[in-house]
Amino acid sequence: MAANAQRHFAGQTRNSVISYSIRRSTRARHVWLRFSKSGELVVVVPKRFDIGRVASIVDANRLWIERAAVRVNARREALEDSVQVALPQRIVLPALDREWAVEYRPTNSPGVRVVERPGNRLVLYGKTSQHEQCRDALCRWFRRKGHASLVPLLQELAATRGFTVTRVTVRSQRTRWASCSRNRAISLNIRLLFVPPELVRHVMLHELCHTKKMDHTQGFWELVAHHDPNWREHRRRLRMGWRSLPGWLTSPATA
Ligand SMILES: [Zn+2]
Repeated sequence: MAANAQRHFAGQTRNSVISYSIRRSTRARHVWLRFSKSGELVVVVPKRFDIGRVASIVDANRLWIERAAVRVNARREALEDSVQVALPQRIVLPALDREWAVEYRPTNSPGVRVVERPGNRLVLYGKTSQHEQCRDALCRWFRRKGHASLVPLLQELAATRGFTVTRVTVRSQRTRWASCSRNRAISLNIRLLFVPPELVRHVMLHELCHTKKMDHTQGFWELVAHHDPNWREHRRRLRMGWRSLPGWLTSPATA
């Protein structure tokens, strides 16, 4: 393995998963945290540093990381915004096992609206020559889709597994897949639409287990294993699943 090879990990904090990669550096004298150009957290460690200690360092710096991630992503997205991003010809949402061919149909009606048509077509009507208006319309459609699909999925899972949830929200979060508050409100990351259904279910079950146990003690993991016997494999695959959103989605409107 090259000296600076990156390995991907997810640091576990009390109620969230922080994704990061580890980079070994021959020049580093101590551990430091930085964000890459793509907005991902990189933990730089000296050449012979014990990787096993990284998770606790990430956890200890959780607050700083979360605040910095917001700043870094805002800056990055502002930058991306200034460069015109191509509008999609195809949208694939693995979580729903669906994909759409996107069509742009200019009409005289004001604004842009998105309509799902039979045959897995997503048609944009209106001022389709207006790039920003198309992007905003697609973002609105994406948020509606996320809400309309993820919320019932969680509620159904909660009902069949005997969990009580007070509130479910869907948001675009920068550093975590989901979270659960002490009063049992679960927040889901809309990016879950980009991972396969079994991993969406895994994330949901993890948070549902937090409605009974807020910590990550042995008892918590036993509860997770009871509901999701393949949780270890799912968790490993999820660590690899954190990708940046397609350009058309990273407009300020989705924040
Ligand atoms: Zn957790």
